[in-house]
Amino acid sequence: MSYGYGQEQQQRQHKRRPSGLSLRLLIAVGIVLFSLVSYWAKTEENPITGEKQRVGLTEDQEIQLGLSAAPEMAAQHGGLYHDSEAQRYVDQVGGKLLNSLHQQLAKKSKSLGYPFEFHLLADPRTVNAFALPGGQIFITYALYNKLETEGQLAGVLGHEIGHVIHRHGAERIASQRLWSGLAGAAGVAGGDVNSARMAQMVAQFTMMSYGRQDELESDRWGVLLMTDAGYDPHAMLGVMDVLEKYAGGGGQPEMLSTHPQPKNRKAYIEAIIEELFPNGLPPGLRQ
Ligand SMILES: [Zn+2]
Repeated sequence: MSYGYGQEQQQRQHKRRPSGLSLRLLIAVGIVLFSLVSYWAKTEENPITGEKQRVGLTEDQEIQLGLSAAPEMAAQHGGLYHDSEAQRYVDQVGGKLLNSLHQQLAKKSKSLGYPFEFHLLADPRTVNAFALPGGQIFITYALYNKLETEGQLAGVLGHEIGHVIHRHGAERIASQRLWSGLAGAAGVAGGDVNSARMAQMVAQFTMMSYGRQDELESDRWGVLLMTDAGYDPHAMLGVMDVLEKYAGGGGQPEMLSTHPQPKNRKAYIEAIIEELFPNGLPPGLRQ
């Protein structure tokens, strides 16, 4: 679609026979404008968090995308873990977090249409957890096996639930479209299709991971949901230790994808706990 606008410009400008360079510049400007307009036109208010955001997908599309990509995601990590008891345990902890989420939403008279599912993946080497748009959440056996407490598992799953309800995946897709448009324009101005493709690939690669702000927002939900579900949120600090210790085997874990200073991240998590529970944590929390 971005090229449609450029072609119109091209046809109009053709009658005046501009030089090749200025024609390419006009097309490039057209593509940039189109990219920016379609990016900002997608601004929506998040029904749960209330923030204004630019998303590339409707909620239904997010759910469809997540469901159709889930088998591929599992296949890339050795399929589902074979032990159904371990899977039940993951479902159980995830279910407690969803109960907390529904309670939080009910307080604000809101509800949620995402059909959350938690998948334990067989991958014994890659220490990681991630979420697809629409509620598909994954944890590898490699990470699951290194977590020391149920609270730590709750922290990981809560963080990933945070990404889903903040619609971070859909935001990334919106910004990828923007950057593809901009990168395409850069290539056209340079008169070289290959450089356009290259720029697009680099842009997409760069935009793939969540931003630092996204990580902090998800940590915040993780802390809130796990505490409501009866877990001590300090377990999230233990998760950071585990990730830090075992990161590297199969690449950077999603939760550390923005390369934050681990000390700052932990300080932030402690600050959220203070902020969300200024009168101290409720009694009887589990580790
Ligand atoms: Zn994350």
